[in-house]
Amino acid sequence: MKAVAVIPKKENSVHLVEMDKPDPAEFKDGRGVLVEVLRVGACGTDREINNAEYGVAPKGFDFLVLGHENFGRVVETGKNVKELKKGDFVVATVRRPRGSSIYDKIGTQDFTTDDKYYERGISRLHGFMAEFYVESADFLIKIPPALAEIAVLLEPLSIIEKGLKQASDIQERLKIWRPKTAAVLGTGNVGLLTVMALRMRGYEVHGFGRNPRTGYLNAELCEAIGATYDSTEDVSVKDSTKKYGEYDLVFECTGFSPIIFDAMQSLNENGILILSSVTGGDRKTDAVPSDKINQMFVLGNRAMVGTVNANREHFEMGVKDFALCEAMYPGWLVRMMTHKVEGLENFAEVFDILEHSSKYNAIKAYFEVKKF
Ligand SMILES: [Zn+2]
Repeated sequence: MKAVAVIPKKENSVHLVEMDKPDPAEFKDGRGVLVEVLRVGACGTDREINNAEYGVAPKGFDFLVLGHENFGRVVETGKNVKELKKGDFVVATVRRPRGSSIYDKIGTQDFTTDDKYYERGISRLHGFMAEFYVESADFLIKIPPALAEIAVLLEPLSIIEKGLKQASDIQERLKIWRPKTAAVLGTGNVGLLTVMALRMRGYEVHGFGRNPRTGYLNAELCEAIGATYDSTEDVSVKDSTKKYGEYDLVFECTGFSPIIFDAMQSLNENGILILSSVTGGDRKTDAVPSDKINQMFVLGNRAMVGTVNANREHFEMGVKDFALCEAMYPGWLVRMMTHKVEGLENFAEVFDILEHSSKYNAIKAYFEVKKF
C-alpha cells in the first residue's frame, strides 16, 4: 500500500513509500481492527515535522508515516471486538499509553509526564497518511454516518474539547460558575472549531484574528455561527473589553505567545485562560505589566491552564458537538474544509498549501484517500 512519509530531522523529506498492508492479527488479544483510510487532514504539525523541527521514526524504521487527523472505515475486526463491525466509520485517537508514567498506566496518556511520546504520525508510531492502518478497538471512536463528511475535523476538535474540560474541571472550585462570554484568540481551523464548541455551549463568543475583516472567510464563518470577529490590527484583546466587557473564558490558539499577557488582562474575576498554542520558537516579550497581572490573578481568583493532546472522552465530546452543530448550523462545518486533494500521491500539493496557507486562503487542507 501507499503511504506518505518523512525522514525525521531531514528538511523537506516528504515522499511516497510502499509498505505492506497491515494485519489486525498484530494485536494478539484479538482486539485489532483493520481500517481503510478515507480522509486525512493536514496541519501545521505535519508541516513542522517535514521542516525537521521534530518527529521520531518508529523503532526499526528510518522513516515516519505522517498523519494524525484521520477518518476511515472498518474492513476487518479481531475476534474480541464487539463494539465495531465491518463498514463502521471510525476516527482513531493519536497518543498511546506506551510511556512509563503513572498517567500512561491509568489510561490518561494525554497527561503523561514522560519526555518520550508515542503519537501516531508524530512520534515513534506511524500515522494515518496511508491506505490502511491497524489499531486496537480501544483507540477507535465510532462515527455516526451523518457526520462522515466532516469527521476528519474530529481530531483537531478533540484538543479543544480537552481544553474546555480542563476549564470546567478547574472551575468546579467555584461551586457555581455560569460563564457567559468568551474570547477566542486565533481564527484558523483550531480557532474556528473553538468558536463552534463554545457557541454549542451557549457562550457569547468573540473571535480575534490578525487579518482584516473584509473578504476574510474565517471572519464570515465566525459571524455565521453567531460570534463576532475583530482584527487585532484594529483592536487589542485587552481593549476589546471596553466594547464587549471582560471575558469569563479566553481560549488562546494563535501561536503568537506575547498575546497571552494581553489575554490575562482581559479576564473577568474568577475567569480562566486556556493556552493551547505550541510555540517552539524563542520569541521574547517585554513591557509586561507584571505587578498588575499578578494582582489581577491574586485578587480576582483568576486561573490559567495549558492543555495538549486529548483522550477518548474528548473525542466523544467532539462527536456530540458536531451533531449539535450540524443540527443548529447545517453546512457550517464543511465550509471549513476548503482544500481537498485526491490521492496520497498528490502530497506535494497538500504541503504547498500548508506552506502558503494565506496565499491559498486555506482553512483546512486534507487528502481524500478513498471516495466513500
Ligand atoms: Zn493537526
